[in-house]
Amino acid sequence: MKALQYRTIGAAPEVVEVETPEPGPGQVRLKVTAAGVCHSDSFIMSLPEEQYIYGLPLTLGHEGAGVVDKLGDGVTGLEVGTSVAVYGPWGCGHCYACAQGHENYCERAGELGIAPPGLGAPGAMAEYMIVDDPRHLVPLGDLDPVQNVSLTDAGLTPYHAIKGSVAKLVPGSVAVVIGAGGLGHVGIQILRAISPATVVALDLSEHKLELATDVGAHHAFLSDESAVEKVRALTGGRGATAVFDFVGMQPTMDLGAKMVAVGGDQVMVGVGTGSLPVGFLDRPFESQVRAPYWGYRSELFEVLDLARTGAVHVETEVFSLDDAPKAYEKLHDGTLRGRAVIVP
Ligand code: NAD
Ligand code: ZN
Ligand code: ZN
Repeated sequence: MKALQYRTIGAAPEVVEVETPEPGPGQVRLKVTAAGVCHSDSFIMSLPEEQYIYGLPLTLGHEGAGVVDKLGDGVTGLEVGTSVAVYGPWGCGHCYACAQGHENYCERAGELGIAPPGLGAPGAMAEYMIVDDPRHLVPLGDLDPVQNVSLTDAGLTPYHAIKGSVAKLVPGSVAVVIGAGGLGHVGIQILRAISPATVVALDLSEHKLELATDVGAHHAFLSDESAVEKVRALTGGRGATAVFDFVGMQPTMDLGAKMVAVGGDQVMVGVGTGSLPVGFLDRPFESQVRAPYWGYRSELFEVLDLARTGAVHVETEVFSLDDAPKAYEKLHDGTLRGRAVIVP
């Protein structure tokens, strides 16, 4: 079968021919229907050898959807032919975190060598993929896999980040989304769907700001120093109740810190190299900083249900597996609108 693999540190990923995998006991093979392209893939492919921990060659793709194709020995309760989305942050299934569906924070994944598909285990950018356990599969039902595959990360991650602040997002509050890319443009819609907050998007180019307003942002401003005053002006000087930073570089962290309100949240979702001082004199009183990772298994059900209501959709640009390297080039150049999705 064909697969898109990262094979050499620093080189672009390549389409290669590999053996079609067989599901072992307890595992499920999917015929992949769609796989999403995430900025985290670019991040790991930018790491120097001494920091790269995901194994080589690595079949990419941690946003996956497929049709159940073959069941390993002992798998029950799942029918061949069912259309499913893959919950990516696999855990052990047994620890306290996993017992709550918080497999993204599994206490034993590291020790047991459990890694998400596309971030250690072979991922979804291939004709077939192996899923370690049927519990990682969430039925898609009538949802189109190509249009919705990215909800497994570009939907689930902002959903989880926003749910952590949603109690504060009361009428009159302002939520800021920094970075209206794959995650950010879905985050804007989730904020509109589950909170009454006024949503402000910040990004670097006019076409990203246009996407932000197209998907529901009340305001969209260029991401520079002037944005601080604009957000303050919208809030009578109070500042943002929550800032969701989908970039995580020093400029966006500094910007977030300057615009967050007393008691507000600054939520670091972007995997960047920025950092913030958190001493008593450094931040607004009672403000909180969080760094959430991906989301809970139950929350993936909720995000898919939100998509079923029509409140959330992913703007997608579709590529074939052969053209997948081009999708990464467009992601790198910042010329994608929404999310790139690979259809093998
Ligand atoms: P993306 O490239 O699709 O979107 C990033 C957006 O940020 C782009 O629109 C870009 O123009 C914008 N941007 C860049 N610099 C900016 C700046 N200084 N000010 C404002 N906007 C700026 O990326 P994505 O796939 O949406 O991922 C976003 C980030 O989230 C990445 O760092 C990714 O690694 C990370 N991520 C984290 C998790 C998690 O669990 N915490 C999960 C998935 C992705
Ligand atoms: Zn991702
Ligand atoms: Zn666990």
